[in-house]
Amino acid sequence: MPPKLTRRNFLARLGSGAITIVGIAGTGLFAALGDVDDAAACVRPPGALPEEDFLATCIRCGRCTDACPNRCITPFTEEAGRELALAPGARQFGTPVIFARRQACMLCNGEPGDGLLCTEACPTGALIPTKKSAVAVQESVDMGTAVVDTTICYSYNGASCGACIRACPFEGTALRAGLWERPIVDPEVCIGCGLCERSCVHYPQAIRIKPSTDRDPTTRGRS
Ligand code: SF4
Ligand code: SF4
Ligand code: SF4
Repeated sequence: MPPKLTRRNFLARLGSGAITIVGIAGTGLFAALGDVDDAAACVRPPGALPEEDFLATCIRCGRCTDACPNRCITPFTEEAGRELALAPGARQFGTPVIFARRQACMLCNGEPGDGLLCTEACPTGALIPTKKSAVAVQESVDMGTAVVDTTICYSYNGASCGACIRACPFEGTALRAGLWERPIVDPEVCIGCGLCERSCVHYPQAIRIKPSTDRDPTTRGRS
């Protein structure tokens, strides 16, 4: 049996050109987007600690929100809670969250410095300082995973679109084109930045981010 393709051995194999990308796209997974619990409901900024540690460490100061040049981080509000179908008064209130369909994380592309600005602004370590090189991002950023709803995506239903693929910072690996530019996600490479969801020309979006349930930047990558 071949070894499991993890984020780390992806990087190793990327160099050798030996990678074979296996995409996932299906209605079953997409349906799971609505099946989130309190601890796994949010797309957090890059570098976020595991959710329980994050909730205990984030002091809701808003510095990451202010630091983001792309204005994609917003404080969690009751309205956000309703959107995510969380109970009123959820513990997430005031914590930073990203709604990719409104504004996605651009990984500080084009900004000065070599770090992701929100992670550098965090005073408590709730967001661990993270470099913005492609290798560093692949090793440590795990906001979620893109999931395609093949029942509504134009490319799976008689047209050729592919707008989401062209928006992906890891085009060809995290998101590659199948026949008729059908988007195919590799969950081991996708970091959940949401640029695909943001750029989807279908409404509601046919590609959306499923928040990570097991992110842990302290271990550098998903298991
Ligand atoms: S990495 Fe940059 S663009 Fe992304 S959320 Fe942080 S500050 Fe904003
Ligand atoms: S597939 Fe979407 S969420 Fe994943 S890396 Fe590409 S643009 Fe970002
Ligand atoms: S942009 Fe939307 S509709 Fe177009 S291929 Fe991507 S998921 Fe499908």
